[in-house]
Amino acid sequence: MGVGSQFLVNFRHATLHIYTTTSWYLASQAKNQMTTDLKGLNARETEQWAVDNGLEPYRGRQIRRWLLTRLALSFDEMQNLPKTIRALISEQALIVPLQEVTTLASEDGTRKYLFRLHDGHLIESVLLPERDHLTLCISSQAGCAMGCRFCLTGKQGFKRNLTPSEIIEQVVFIKRSLSEPERLTNIVFMGMGEPLANYDAVIRALENLIAEDGMNFSHRKVTLSTCGLVPEIERLGHDTTVNLAVSLNAADDATRSSLMPVNRRYPLKLLIQACRGFPLPNRRMITFEYILIDGVNDRDQDALNLTRLLSGLRAKINLIPLNAAPGADMSPPPMKRTLQFQEILTDHHFTAIIRKSKGRDILAACGQLTGTYAE
Ligand code: SAH
Ligand code: SF4
Repeated sequence: MGVGSQFLVNFRHATLHIYTTTSWYLASQAKNQMTTDLKGLNARETEQWAVDNGLEPYRGRQIRRWLLTRLALSFDEMQNLPKTIRALISEQALIVPLQEVTTLASEDGTRKYLFRLHDGHLIESVLLPERDHLTLCISSQAGCAMGCRFCLTGKQGFKRNLTPSEIIEQVVFIKRSLSEPERLTNIVFMGMGEPLANYDAVIRALENLIAEDGMNFSHRKVTLSTCGLVPEIERLGHDTTVNLAVSLNAADDATRSSLMPVNRRYPLKLLIQACRGFPLPNRRMITFEYILIDGVNDRDQDALNLTRLLSGLRAKINLIPLNAAPGADMSPPPMKRTLQFQEILTDHHFTAIIRKSKGRDILAACGQLTGTYAE
């Protein structure tokens, strides 16, 4: 397969520019007027792309730095490239910034961004300021096909996968919009979509997010959350070193299957086996997210089952009282029940944290991302 061919986007040019050297002209012919989305390429591929277009490899490195480190929005910004080269790359490559539709700010500081993709689909990203860090929650798909019963994103169904650059553009947009003292520290794939169902694009995006000559996030500060696609969890452990979070939500198959259809394909035994095999360097842990739902998965027995299921695993448990959708048939348990559930887990020496959902007033909390807005 050619360089980044998976992520080539076909754009027709109305006019064909005349290039000053033959090689550029031939390169453009050979590309058959295909335009490359460079943010989806890794360092080696970007160099190769430069060479294929008649440039020195170091030009590829320069372009990559402009795109991922200096967050250029157009090729014209790339001031250390001669005009002729800028003209060439704007013929052969494209930058497609996200179009901001709305930004909502919550009373608790959370900000929710709604973006329109070039084909009209809408996605959301959520910025979560905490005491000593600033976390961005990003989407990996428009919609989601997994159909979890408690999740509003799941309810709206699947629209399409995001490309690597559409994933990265969320980070680029927010980084550009931050004011001086703010610094984005953490990235979590917990927005719209199931990241492991868009595996190749997510891996490419991750690679550029953590590359030193890319966006340079520490792999310890990047977390991917999955509903439990077992083969992809196994692949992920080989392909990256980012943190893994698993949306567990039940400790027995009957309850989990009733909440999350994916459990019928990959029941708990397989899921936990994959987690046990997941490489955890330097005392890292897997985060298990457990949404507490009144009368469904919040009994003492459920907590005990959970301790048994996760015994011996380096696990940290996030308890998330359900964010109830308007008109939903499920609700969060009373606080007393939530605390009792937590106590059972801590008595069994698990780290269990009750996550206060942020941004509820602007529907930016987990499971409330629908990619819609009121006109
Ligand atoms: N698809 C991935 C990542 C996106 S969902 C996954 O499922 O892990 C991000 C998180 O939101 C998941 O942990 C999910 O369990 C949680 N979530 C979804 N709906 C929710 C709701 N109604 N209340 C609280 N958390 C919810
Ligand atoms: Fe998809 Fe995650 Fe929502 Fe389930 S919880 S429907 S996997 S986004």
